[in-house]
Amino acid sequence: MSLLEVHDLRLVYPNGHEALRQVSFEAEAGEIIALIGRSGAGKSTLLRCINGLERPTEGEVVVDGEAITRMNERQLREVRRRIGFIWQEHNLVERLPVLTNVLTGRLGYKSGLGGLLGYFDRDEREVAVRSLERVNLLHRAKQRADRLSGGEKQRASIARALTQQPRIILADEPVASLDPELAVQVMSDLARVAREDGALALISIHQVELAKAFVDRVIGLAQGVVVFDGPTGRLDQDVMDRVYRFDKALA
Ligand code: ADP
Repeated sequence: MSLLEVHDLRLVYPNGHEALRQVSFEAEAGEIIALIGRSGAGKSTLLRCINGLERPTEGEVVVDGEAITRMNERQLREVRRRIGFIWQEHNLVERLPVLTNVLTGRLGYKSGLGGLLGYFDRDEREVAVRSLERVNLLHRAKQRADRLSGGEKQRASIARALTQQPRIILADEPVASLDPELAVQVMSDLARVAREDGALALISIHQVELAKAFVDRVIGLAQGVVVFDGPTGRLDQDVMDRVYRFDKALA
């Protein structure tokens, strides 16, 4: 049994658009995978299906042996505790200190009141501090999130995901809005911490060269279909054509 199994996923949005047509793959703990494909290929939809934000029309997502596609909201919340999500736009609460933002990674573990009151115990604070340390951001812990640079914000959201102690990290174009230099740094941090923790990381990314430098495996999506799934070393021009010029290939 793999940590993550995606079986014949199909998703038709309410407006009739078929964003995923047939997506299947399995992934193990410790794998760092890039999800590549043109804009609109279905990458974001796929990531949202994996953490249950989107319900597929057909098919199944199985995390650790449990079919999350059949879970109710309460069960989903439990599974989501261990799935860290990093967005293109960091999603930090700008007015709150960095450390508080990072601590919100623990909210999924809390029952209603503790979470509402923002009470975090010492162990939780230690996890958060350690997470900030691991992305070299501890010196910013007390600053408001809106004081951080773009790269720092993205590292703070990596720290927030780490604070969940996730088994799976999903990142939806985490470096798309960063300068090339910062993008390298953030990708490098993300791949490193995922590797250190033996987490499965699935990262959607536009910059194929950057992906090649930091991941082991690439899944290429085109028009909601997996057109490549293999080690980074097998990404040649032919594969790139399949992933990025699918319309042409079909014509
Ligand atoms: P990617 O992340 O690869 O850019 P997305 O998963 O965001 O692709 O989108 C896949 C396709 O589904 C696109 O054509 C997009 O316009 C469409 N889409 C995304 N979200 C919705 C929605 N809520 N309703 C209808 N269509 C959507």
